[in-house]
Amino acid sequence: MSSSLEDTKFILRKYNITANKKLGQNFLINDNVIENIIEASNIEEKDLVIEIGPGLGTLTSKLLERAEKVIAIELDDKMISILKDRFKLYNNFILLNDDVLKIDLNSLIKENVGDLEKIKIVANLPYYITTPIIMKLLEDKLGIYSITVMVQKEVADRITAMPGDKLSGAITYSVNYYAEAKKIVFVDKSSFIPAPEVDSEVIKLDIRKTPVVEVDNEEMFFRVIKASFMQRRKTLVNGLVNSGIITDKVRIKEIFDNIGIDMNIRGEKLTIEQFAELSNLIYRDI
Ligand code: SAM
Repeated sequence: MSSSLEDTKFILRKYNITANKKLGQNFLINDNVIENIIEASNIEEKDLVIEIGPGLGTLTSKLLERAEKVIAIELDDKMISILKDRFKLYNNFILLNDDVLKIDLNSLIKENVGDLEKIKIVANLPYYITTPIIMKLLEDKLGIYSITVMVQKEVADRITAMPGDKLSGAITYSVNYYAEAKKIVFVDKSSFIPAPEVDSEVIKLDIRKTPVVEVDNEEMFFRVIKASFMQRRKTLVNGLVNSGIITDKVRIKEIFDNIGIDMNIRGEKLTIEQFAELSNLIYRDI
């Protein structure tokens, strides 16, 4: 029996609790995967690590051994009392009972970063809010260095897809704008208690110093991307018109001609540079 499996069963029994499905609680019990996550996140002594959803503390215990400071944000009160108990002897541990989507991460980091050099996010994310968490971490411009997270396989495929792939979606471009994404390891359902319905994958996002393309207005850039993936089987022109971003087809044709794209093109065929050009031209037009 692996030690994380033993620990998990022991803790669940000791505190007489069961996983809360509504909170996406699937506890990791595969030691190899835990090692893969720790290795990929490349924690160094002078790092501030933020863990989202520490649960019973399986990953947390490894992070605490490596980083100078670990901040863990957990929504479930039951997990909080277990974590407090389990890590009471660690003085490099800050535990927050909060919702990661509501917490002000910029202030949290400012208060805690001190002379620490890099901020790294590590997590086995709750799957019901994976995308909003990742987008918050990127959009809030937190000055973080990397994000190493377990997500469901389908989301990993989308995030790491190449523009133009049939798997690419709005999130492919949105993440690519801020970060370089790569897959680390495939994780089978049986690596968790309870087993989720889907397989998973660990991915790593290395945050770029500056976004990969220059845009005049980020809000317009992301609006254009979202609109073009709203109706996947429709053309980009339809997406733009239906979302109300630009409705004059003559003007759209001029803009498309300017970029050198066809009026029948679908959103997923555009490169991120073309999305930048398109949103810049639309923005300058209004
Ligand atoms: N890290 C543990 C592990 O790997 O075994 C648990 C991971 S489990 C997939 C996700 C964790 O996120 C759970 O502990 C759950 O309670 C917590 N969680 C769910 N929603 C949250 C939220 N909005 N903010 C913070 N934590 C949340």
